[in-house]
Amino acid sequence: MAHWNSYNMFVFFTDLDGTLLDHDTYDWQPARPAIRRIQAAGHALILCTSKSLAEVASLWHSMGLADPVIVENGGAIYLPERYFGGRLPGTVTRGGWEAIELGAPYRDLVGALGEAAAASGARVRGFANMDTEEVARRTGLPLETARQAHQREYDEPFLVEEGDPASLCAAIERLGYSWTRGGRFFHILRGCDKAQAVRRLTALFREQRAVERTVGLGDGLNDAGFLREADSAWLLPSRQLAELARLAPGARVAPAKGPAGWAQAVEMELA
Ligand SMILES: [Mg+2]
Repeated sequence: MAHWNSYNMFVFFTDLDGTLLDHDTYDWQPARPAIRRIQAAGHALILCTSKSLAEVASLWHSMGLADPVIVENGGAIYLPERYFGGRLPGTVTRGGWEAIELGAPYRDLVGALGEAAAASGARVRGFANMDTEEVARRTGLPLETARQAHQREYDEPFLVEEGDPASLCAAIERLGYSWTRGGRFFHILRGCDKAQAVRRLTALFREQRAVERTVGLGDGLNDAGFLREADSAWLLPSRQLAELARLAPGARVAPAKGPAGWAQAVEMELA
């Protein structure tokens, strides 16, 4: 579409919890005007999160977004159908989305987590062991949202209840899997992470549209990789800030936490 080439667009990649959403209340209203500014300027806003598709899709609808999403820590990229004008090769269609699957099947992750826990003498509690009420209690999400959060495909969130997280993570790596850590949970994955998904989607944007700049916003250690991929990166203050700043040197720190800080960072980026 020719009009996409008539200006140079920005592609914003943003984490959700603790970044665009408040860490405790999940509120995003303070960011609403900045989201509208991004849309009015014709830029793209990509949600890049450990959340499941079911959970992201309902936020995406309520935010009034129209751009692709990266779910389950890079386990899959979901594009609205024909987002780039035609069906992309190598995608599967699902309920109005084209999916680029990058992660391993969920049952493999759950199996490997059990094996790594046994090998390292740790006691873990993953989403597979929890019912929806427990997911709601541990995340502070309302029951309906917790039900959506529970529908995992490529990433298993878990807590370490007993034992040494470092030896557990080493055991996960010995089995050929990887792990990361968000604001609340550890996650086990294989063959994917947020950074790889951002790289893949950035390449697609650069092929299809006149991208001037990519911008990353995040608050957790699982954001470090994709923040390094972005041309311009912002860190939202959290308990992990000092460690994240070491992993993503060159990133700027937003002036406030959560959606209010997010909005200010976006305003500065667009200024
Ligand atoms: Mg976060």
